[in-house]
Amino acid sequence: MSTKAEPRTQTAQPVQSLDIVRERLNHLHRVDGLHWREIALLEPYRGLTPGMLVNIAKGHNPKDPRIRSILRLPEGIDGPGARDCACGRTFIPNAWNRVHCYVCSPPRGSAGTSNRDGAKG
Ligand SMILES: [Zn+2]
Repeated sequence: MSTKAEPRTQTAQPVQSLDIVRERLNHLHRVDGLHWREIALLEPYRGLTPGMLVNIAKGHNPKDPRIRSILRLPEGIDGPGARDCACGRTFIPNAWNRVHCYVCSPPRGSAGTSNRDGAKG
């Protein structure tokens, strides 16, 4: 069987953030009502166990590079720059002064921010 390497259109796979992965998993589980076993069979999650998916959906940040590449997460979560939020999530800050993860403190510019009072302190 000669499977020719199909010349795929080079769509650069965008790197996903863990939050996006988590949201999708939770959506599949809660909204679509899929079992974790079933989710693990879906194309984007091939190679992951249901248990892993549960952990990731709960906020676990996988360290295994293989898992990270399946989920297209950025590499090197333990590298310089990774920080721990007070909530326990590890995140890579997009700015030097970011101290909270993207869940606790969603980045600006995300659509639908009706929160107008930026008055602090
Ligand atoms: Zn947090």
